[in-house]
Amino acid sequence: MRIGIGHDTHRLIAGGPLRLGGIDIPFDHQLDGHSDADVLLHAVTDSILGAAALGDIGQLFPNTDADNADRDSAEMLEIAARSVVESGYRLANIDCIVFAERPPLMPHKAAIVARLAQILQMEPAAINVKAKTGEAVGPIGRGEAIAAECIALLLEA
Ligand code: MG
Repeated sequence: MRIGIGHDTHRLIAGGPLRLGGIDIPFDHQLDGHSDADVLLHAVTDSILGAAALGDIGQLFPNTDADNADRDSAEMLEIAARSVVESGYRLANIDCIVFAERPPLMPHKAAIVARLAQILQMEPAAINVKAKTGEAVGPIGRGEAIAAECIALLLEA
């Protein structure tokens, strides 16, 4: 049994939609980054890589590599999940938190869970996504950034 944690933060910039958790959410801002900046998928990727002691997303997909510019984070997560399976593990469950002042994520949680289940080849019941606001405090509360955390449990296959 192995456990891993992932964390990520990306800045919000004007112009939607918001790519988060592998889906596009209607919003007037989007996340900025070298890839598609999907902060939740990046946290999930780091959590499963961490659990298998396979390093981190920056090692696998350097932001100095032009091939990773605007890259689909779902593809990176799929590759990471494949590496985890090839290392002899299967994903037991993941639990995630998204820290975002806006938009409200409750209406999108089921779609995000379904997308994560599809990318990770897991049962939706093994995936949990929680959302927290920044209580109007700090960069998240001011709507300048969105952060995400994820914890993953792996079992020997
Ligand atoms: Mg990132």
